[in-house]
Amino acid sequence: MESVGSSGVSSEIIIVGAGLAGSTLAAVLGQQGRRVILVDPHSTCPPVFKAEKLDVDQVELLRKFGLLESFFPNSGRWNEVQMGYDGRIFRTVQVEQYGINYADMVNALYAPERPGVDFRRASVEHIANTGHIQHVKLSGGEELTARLVVLASGISSGLEASLGLRRRMIQRDQSLVLGFDIAASPGQSFNFGSIAYYSVTPSTRIGYLTLFKIRNTMRANLFIFRTAYDPWVREFILDPERMLRRYLPKLSGVTGEYRVVSKVESGRADLYRADGNPQPGVVLIGDAFQSVCPSTGLGLDKILTDVDVLSACVSRWLETPGMGADKLADFYNDPRKLATDSRALQRAHHHRSAAIDPSLRWRIHRFLLHFKWRFEAAVESLRRRSDGFARSGKLDSISSAKAADPIICVSTAKNPRHSRPENRAT
Ligand SMILES: Cc1cc2nc3c(=O)[nH]c(=O)nc-3n(C[C@H](O)[C@H](O)[C@H](O)COP(=O)(O)OP(=O)(O)OC[C@H]3O[C@@H](n4cnc5c(N)ncnc54)[C@H](O)[C@@H]3O)c2cc1C
Repeated sequence: MESVGSSGVSSEIIIVGAGLAGSTLAAVLGQQGRRVILVDPHSTCPPVFKAEKLDVDQVELLRKFGLLESFFPNSGRWNEVQMGYDGRIFRTVQVEQYGINYADMVNALYAPERPGVDFRRASVEHIANTGHIQHVKLSGGEELTARLVVLASGISSGLEASLGLRRRMIQRDQSLVLGFDIAASPGQSFNFGSIAYYSVTPSTRIGYLTLFKIRNTMRANLFIFRTAYDPWVREFILDPERMLRRYLPKLSGVTGEYRVVSKVESGRADLYRADGNPQPGVVLIGDAFQSVCPSTGLGLDKILTDVDVLSACVSRWLETPGMGADKLADFYNDPRKLATDSRALQRAHHHRSAAIDPSLRWRIHRFLLHFKWRFEAAVESLRRRSDGFARSGKLDSISSAKAADPIICVSTAKNPRHSRPENRAT
């Protein structure tokens, strides 16, 4: 598939960065018959603590791309998330979710045999962009040309400034995630697929704890609103089990007895956005464009929406000469992209405020929310007692899981059993 003006260049598209955004885009464009060069200093993604879970909307997009099945060998799957608070389950949500290490996700996509994708192991050191041909200089000295460059280089590439882009910090140290494995008591096993468990008091500065399966391991992600330098964090890393029992004292009421069986990994998140787009010849996707608060679970929504929207734009763009900023504005102005990016920012602020904001407004919010959860917990307990109701075929399909945003639509969620569980169930 040769497009207008593509014959004299190294490739139609160069993607800088083979994280989840770059690797997914390369796979999708390769499938569409495009010529792509994917550049990253690592030939395979090294172990790294980032997103470890695929949520409903993400599963749908990966299925649409024909890529979901490549994750199956390394993932765990569950169909139900139980939401807990104060030692009790208050809601059960039907889902299709998968747990998988970030590196396993990326490496499943970046198989060298992918059609149309040529891989270069190097860092991109410089991009000279124009409205026609882009020049990309690699660390080994090689120079590549393409009609379009996609910057998928995550939180840091050092390339933004030379492109006339500015990283606007929205909130430094917005949140932190602690990741570790837990196991049931010897001889016991956990009888749940996934749990999202909320703290009773804002003084813990805990957003929530999520437990889910990665293959045969029960993984824990604790989302907290503290800086990496907070002594609390150090204490947690040194003695996670004692800290969990202290700050989520009734957790074992919903999980059964547990032990922490791995070291604690941590990852911090600043909230920022790259200003100065669109630029001629270069598009930014994923964390290179805008970061996320991991507790929202929207990082992968953002990446996969970017890939979906951009892959549709690319076919159109390559059909006509030029790659000017006005053309590339189509991507940034796409309503679906705009909505996904703004939802991610809105929820980042909401999750933080709902967890820790001491103002009267948020104290009232928490009071009402916790009252509601206690009420729901009583109903859930009755439901569980009325033998087998939940499994008698009365639950609808999972597709409405994304329909209601319980954060924004406080009382309009038609069926709260189908809400995305990690959105605070307001
Ligand atoms: C601890 C943690 C937990 C998270 N949990 C969740 C979650 O539960 N759900 C969710 O949806 N999101 C979560 N996120 C967010 C999500 O992981 C990120 O949004 C996502 O990984 C970003 O992917 P990316 O491809 O844009 O960037 P990255 O994964 O950072 O990839 C960038 C790539 O670019 C390469 N690169 C950088 N500079 C250059 C250069 N100059 N030349 C060539 N290559 C370069 C790097 O080597 C890297 O491979 C979490 C994030 C963190 C930190």
